[in-house]
Amino acid sequence: DGVIRFEDVHFSYDAARPILKGISFEVPAGKTVAIVGPSGAGKSTISRLLYRFYDIDRGRISIDGQDIREVTQASLRGKIGMVPQDTVLFNDTVGYNIRYGRIGASDEEVARAAEMAQIGPFIEKLPEGLNTMVGERGLKLSGGEKQRVAIARTILKAPPILILDEATSALDTATEQEIQASLDYVSKGRTTLVIAHRLSTVINADEIIVLRDGVIKERGRHDALLAQ
Ligand code: ADP
Ligand code: ADP
Repeated sequence: DGVIRFEDVHFSYDAARPILKGISFEVPAGKTVAIVGPSGAGKSTISRLLYRFYDIDRGRISIDGQDIREVTQASLRGKIGMVPQDTVLFNDTVGYNIRYGRIGASDEEVARAAEMAQIGPFIEKLPEGLNTMVGERGLKLSGGEKQRVAIARTILKAPPILILDEATSALDTATEQEIQASLDYVSKGRTTLVIAHRLSTVINADEIIVLRDGVIKERGRHDALLAQ
């Protein structure tokens, strides 16, 4: 379940400048495909198109054979867990923000997800800066901490498909390794699309796609790409 397929996908934010110029790839069920390439190559655009923030100009994007334009947005997004580069939190506690991943979750489930993403101690806290209310529960979350909230939310949601967009980029090395372990745990058995800058962060991907200027330049496993 959760096969992602891009077929000859063309997309531009504005007609004068094509961003993706005929992208085709597949992420088999339960596998991990990484998209790497320089900044501006169109990597994040691919994740936004899969989540249907925008519609494509030409080609087809499907999940389990079904064109994503033919399913409701709620159904599509219910299948996809997204850990974006910049997580925007709701104006409420960390726990509330995590629970958003699955509204019906119990307090225990929320607490467990928070612990797995190493944001447990912050669960009652209000992210400061989003609030006019400055109370004792106020807390300023760093970029990395916000990312952990997004990871906890995704752990709770447990979707068949994951999009990790530079998911550990905002973290320091030690934290990155810990978080990587939770990410490996959530992505196990789920169809995963990883967006990354560096090849070194996606060693274990089943396939790596190198994107440059909106076209696929190379593809293969990590060691094969390095050997070139
Ligand atoms: P990457 O993730 O590889 O760094 P992006 O997919 O974010 O690249 O962006 C690809 C190109 O599309 C960039 O040149 C960027 O400036 C442009 N772009 C991204 N988002 C928008 C937008 N909302 N409107 C117009 N252009 C955009
Ligand atoms: P669903 O509730 O079916 O998951 P949504 O589109 O409401 O669909 O949300 C999908 C995911 O996108 C959520 O799990 C959450 O991670 C993220 N998300 C959506 N809207 C926001 C938002 N305003 N702030 C932060 N994250 C959001």
